[in-house]
Amino acid sequence: MKKIFLVLGLLLVLAGALFVNFSFDPVVRNNLVLAIRARLEVGEKIVFVPDYSRDAPFQQWGITTNSVWLVDQVRQIVPYLKREGAIADAASVGIYPGQAYFSPYIGYRSFQVGGSSYPPEDLVFINERYILRDDPSQATVVGILVHELLHIQDQFFFQPDDILATESVTSAATTEVLAGMCRAGRKDACQAFWSDIEVMSLSAVEARLSIHKLGWIFDPLMDLLFRTQDQSARAEKWEQDFGSQEDVVTKYVSVPWNQLLIPGLLNHSGLRVSSPEHIAEPWRMGDFRFVMPLDDTEFLLGESGIWLLRNAYPRVGNPDYKPADWKLIGSVAGGILLILLIFTLGVFMGRKILLR
Ligand SMILES: [Zn+2]
Repeated sequence: MKKIFLVLGLLLVLAGALFVNFSFDPVVRNNLVLAIRARLEVGEKIVFVPDYSRDAPFQQWGITTNSVWLVDQVRQIVPYLKREGAIADAASVGIYPGQAYFSPYIGYRSFQVGGSSYPPEDLVFINERYILRDDPSQATVVGILVHELLHIQDQFFFQPDDILATESVTSAATTEVLAGMCRAGRKDACQAFWSDIEVMSLSAVEARLSIHKLGWIFDPLMDLLFRTQDQSARAEKWEQDFGSQEDVVTKYVSVPWNQLLIPGLLNHSGLRVSSPEHIAEPWRMGDFRFVMPLDDTEFLLGESGIWLLRNAYPRVGNPDYKPADWKLIGSVAGGILLILLIFTLGVFMGRKILLR
């Protein structure tokens, strides 16, 4: 009798796996798997306390600043921008900011803005909130600094007439630079890279669930898999205060992931840093201005990560793709098998109880 239950149990698991594998939207399924992996890679927060002077700014290696830590990081990061191919002008060693500060922001901006930069003056600011809070994350600040330093490099990362293009290309490039820094051994950059991947893949899950009119599942799913109780409360409070911030997500998260990184990775075409009209229509090839390789992002995601993406977005890089019929057959067969097994199990259990 026990053996029968064991066999039935195994079949149930098999049918369930078949059903899950074939009937769930692969965009939801694979991005969720990738996000879980990213969360595991992010690991423990690297807490740090950088110096921050509220007195008059001072000079450090030709940069006017209020933090030696910040200038140390600028000198570390700009050469990475060069090495990762983010600087279009082959003769340039990269542009160093004339001024770099931790700086207060006022009002709502204080909560929402990580940093800012003013390319004409080569000026970079990081929101002081990120280092004044209880548990400042080094990865977060390094991620913001890479982003702001990219903005001042050249006009490709700063197009004042097109904020969407500017921010989405800069965000995608930031992820690749962080990947390169991670491979060079910087733990904080690894953490920033994987948390970028987590945020981007989760936003793809949320967007796709909304398309299926299942958007309401997203928050409970996050609470279950990704958030502690405190974080759930914080997420709810954020939602109350600032709303869903759709345009922020579009600029910094969903366009970089869906339109820049995924096609760049799956087509092996790299990140096309181009004029605004081409970013709006990434399938139009040809007239882009320079390509930043995505080799480090590809390396860190690994074969399994790239496979997940290819499997989720089979049309990218393969316009002739047609879904195979056996997928439909698999999900129907898995579903029927599942129902039959649950029914059989129910009958078995019922008889056992009745015959006792
Ligand atoms: Zn920006």
